This record gives sequence, C-alpha cells and structure tokens, in this order.
Amino acid sequence: MNHSSDTSKKQRIVIVGGGTAGWLTAAIVAAKHKVAMGECGLDITLVESSDIPTVGVGEGTWPTMRNTLKDIGLSEKEVFRRCSAAFKQGGKFVNWVNGDGDFYYHPFTVPLGYGRVEMAPYVGDIANFANATNFQQHVCERNMAPRTLSEQEYSSAQSNYAYHLDAGAFADMLRDFSKTELGVKHIVATVESVAASSSEHVESVTLNNGMVLDADLFVDCSGFRSLLLGETLGESVVSADDVLFNNSALALHVPHEEDFEIKPYTQATAQEAGWIWDIGLSSRRGVGHVYSTDFTTDERAEEVLRQYVGDEHGDLKARTIRFNSGYKKRIWKGNCIAVGLSAGFVEPLEATALMLIEISARYIAEQMPLPTSAMPIVSQRFNKQMNYRWQRIIDFLKLHYIFNQRSEPYWVANRDAASIPDSLKEDLEIWKYRGPQIADFSAAIELFPAASYQYVLYGMGFSPDFSLQSHFYNERDLADKVIKQNQLITQQKLSSLPNHRDYIEQWLAS
Ligand code: FAD
Repeated sequence: MNHSSDTSKKQRIVIVGGGTAGWLTAAIVAAKHKVAMGECGLDITLVESSDIPTVGVGEGTWPTMRNTLKDIGLSEKEVFRRCSAAFKQGGKFVNWVNGDGDFYYHPFTVPLGYGRVEMAPYVGDIANFANATNFQQHVCERNMAPRTLSEQEYSSAQSNYAYHLDAGAFADMLRDFSKTELGVKHIVATVESVAASSSEHVESVTLNNGMVLDADLFVDCSGFRSLLLGETLGESVVSADDVLFNNSALALHVPHEEDFEIKPYTQATAQEAGWIWDIGLSSRRGVGHVYSTDFTTDERAEEVLRQYVGDEHGDLKARTIRFNSGYKKRIWKGNCIAVGLSAGFVEPLEATALMLIEISARYIAEQMPLPTSAMPIVSQRFNKQMNYRWQRIIDFLKLHYIFNQRSEPYWVANRDAASIPDSLKEDLEIWKYRGPQIADFSAAIELFPAASYQYVLYGMGFSPDFSLQSHFYNERDLADKVIKQNQLITQQKLSSLPNHRDYIEQWLAS
C-alpha cells in the first residue's frame, strides 16, 4: 500500500530505531503535529529491537535542548527527576594547550558587549578573554546553578544553559511520553530485511514478528549500522578520519563520592592520545576516554582512564565503542532520511550529535506531510544544509586541536597543516588579522556563533594582529566599561546563585 500520492489519507512515518535519535525524532514530530489529537495528516510508528542495544552514551547537550524539551511538552523538573539531569553551562578544556594544568572555558553565554564592541583587542592577555568578558566561567568554577529557586522552570534569563542527562533514562522517558501523550505507535521487533525498489526508494521493512511496514517516509535511526540509508540504499560516507583522528572510546559510569559536587559544565581533559570527558549527573558521573588507536593501544587508553578516575573505582567495567568520523553525503535520499548515528558521527567534543538530531527532527516536522513531487526538493535542500553543518562542525572541532603546544606524537600530528581542512585554513588566514566576527557566521543555518570560535581560539592563546585595522579599535573607554560591568555582574551572580547540587536537590524536593 502506498500512501504517498494520496494526500487525503494520513502520511505514514516509520522510524527504525529506539535510541535517543529515534525517540527524540518521534517526540519532536508528534508534538509539533499534535498527532495524539488524531486530526493531523501524520501517523508515526517507531520500531525498535529488544535484541540490539542502544549506544548508551550521549549525555552532554547543547542549549537548543531546552526549547526542544519545552516544545515536546515535558516538564523540566520531570526531566531532571527521570534522567538524573544536571545543568551544563559550557565546556571546560583542561590541558589542551601545553598539558601543565592550563584550561579555558567555552561558556554558553556570549561575551558581554557582543555585537556592540569587539572586545578581543582590549583584553590584554588574550587567553583571559572568557574571564574578562563573561561571568559564566566564574560561576562554573564555583559549581553554581544557572538560576535561583524563585525562577520558573526552563528560565535561562540569568545564564544560557543545556543539560547533562542519563542517556538510557532519557530515551526511556521520551519513549513513555511519546507513547502515552503524543500518539506515537511503538513496535518492539527487529527489522530483518529492507525491501528497496531502487537506491532511492525503500518499499518496506519486514520485522521478525512477520509484520511488513510500508511508509511515505522512513527514518533511519538504527545507529552506526545505518540499516536503511547505508546498508540498503548504499549511500556513501564523507570521511573526516584524516582531520579528526580519534576512533575509539572507553566509557565508565562513576559513582559519586560522599559530599560530591556536581560540575555545571562538561570537562574535557586532554590526554597523551585523546581526551577524557567528565559529565556530572545528579546520580553519578559519566566519564569516558576518546582516543586514537593510531597513537595508543586500548590497554594504555584504559590505563589512562583508570588513572583519571582513581584506584577507588578500579572495579568499574569500561565499555569500548569504535567509530569512524564522517557523515553521509546525502542524509535524505528518496523516501529515507537518517537521523542520529546512522547519518554520521564525529567525536563528542562539543555535544553536536544530539543537536543535529534536534535539527533534523525539526526539519522533518516542518516539512511533513509532503506530496511525493516535493520530496526531492526538500531532501536536496536538507542535504545542502546538513553538508554545510557537518563541515562547519568538523572545522570547529579541529579548531580545538591546532594550536596545542604539546609534544606527544598525537598532538604534533593534530597540528600538522595537512590535517587541517582548507575551509578552516581560509578562516584562520582572515582571523589572524581580526579574529572571528559575527558577520563571518551570518548564515541562518549556522550552528556555532562567532562567540564560540572566539572562546576557543582566544582561550588557546591565538592572538590576532589587530594592527592592520587598528583605526577601528578606538573604543577603549567602552571596552573598559564592559570589563568593569562584567566584574560587577560576576560579583552579583557569585553572591546570588545557589550551589548546583543544592539547587537540584531543593528544586526536586519542592
Ligand atoms: P543508538 O543509540 O545506537 O540506537 C539505535 C537503535 O536502533 C536501537 O534502539 C536499536 O535497537 C535499533 N536498531 C538497530 N538495528 C535494528 C533493527 N534491525 N531492527 C530494529 N531496531 C534496530 N552526543 C551528544 O550530543 N553529546 C554527547 O556527549 C555525546 N557523547 C558521545 C560519546 C560517545 C563515545 C559516542 C559514541 C557518542 C556520543 N554522542 C554524544 C552521540 C550520541 O550518543 C548519539 O547521537 C545518540 O545516542 C543517538 O544514537 P542513535 O539513536 O542514533 O543510535
């Protein structure tokens, strides 16, 4: 049965996969169309296997997640309860420059004066940029929450924030909510075979319970395997392995110690051949080592991870995950779109994966239902946008590596010009003289603002030679005012914001 040309009938979306990608897509699309009310033109079915586990990681998010959860209709408090969630106000990058305890922040709040005055020429020590222009690093260093108990849920009026979430609990919560509140149909079964009439069209999927599902749109959320778009339709991958060297991760769930603090930021600590993420939840920490097997062994990588978490956690079992860096050339092909790991993956240094899932799901929600004749047009547009986004993400992640001064072969190789994409080299050629500016990121589909590039570049000590345009930089008085104002705001926040852990405990108890 083919519904695609008959717009009087509901169009059917079949999502294959029940990890974060599958359930987030189901929830975003179903909520937008109020599928549960039964009056819209969409029918959404999610099929997931009980035999194939989810990837089980992916706990750091981007501030976009706030609106996503709100739009889905979830209570923020409920999200915190069910997912042992905590606030994330940015990233702290430790030892990325020379490995002697150096650190810089990529906070989520833009620098004070952003869009009014270019602060970099005035801050003196450029590596101090985030410190001088933003309060959030100070708040993070003191483990503070982004708001007070008197503020409403989802309020980010004081500080821009995202979340740390227990990945398994997050998918479970989205599943329950999608089924009970949003009208998503759920089938627990394994897709045994996929029928395709060409490399552009999936006809149906056959499940191990004998069911055959057809659809107007198939959403491939099957994880790294990419059962529909990759295996069945044979879509090729644009590899980024020559730019981003990491290809493995070891992940641990670390219990909290007594009197623990919950860090309100993701810490990424550089190691000899990779880096370790440290994500604080209210129930535990998620800690993992991302590394390159071209520069270290699995045994050594595990040793490094165990040194990081300490002997007291020696009994914890680490899980190994292998991956390649890259993305599908055409992420939406014919009547099949990949969302999540099936679309692509790059190391989780800036939590871009869940953000791309949100963007993709929103795009599906905005486009569907769709006449068959329009599908090639929207898919082509989507692919163009996604190609751009993936390239930008790869450039932005690489940016974190290229100004390191570390001596290990991994770090030396990472700053080799041959591994830097031409697009990033071009940007740097300009930024050498004036730093990243808002106008460089004017595209509506841009993911990271100029502020993000400024925090990372300046945080690593990249100091543009502003002398060519020195006549622009005659705003010393204004810049000094901004710096003073930032000090004042910082003092206000430090004296008024509560401790992060206390806030969560008191809020959830209220
Ligand atoms: P999976 O979780 O693998 O789910 C696949 C689903 O498909 C499962 O339900 C499975 O049962 C189902 N399935 C597979 N085959 C079949 C079949 N034949 N029939 C039926 N069902 C099938 N992202 C972030 O944004 N922030 C982070 O901090 C972050 N950290 C990460 C750390 C690591 C080490 C890795 C590897 C990834 C990280 N990610 C992160 C990415 C993030 O984990 C994923 O984007 C996210 O979990 C979505 O995964 P998924 O749903 O696409 O795939």
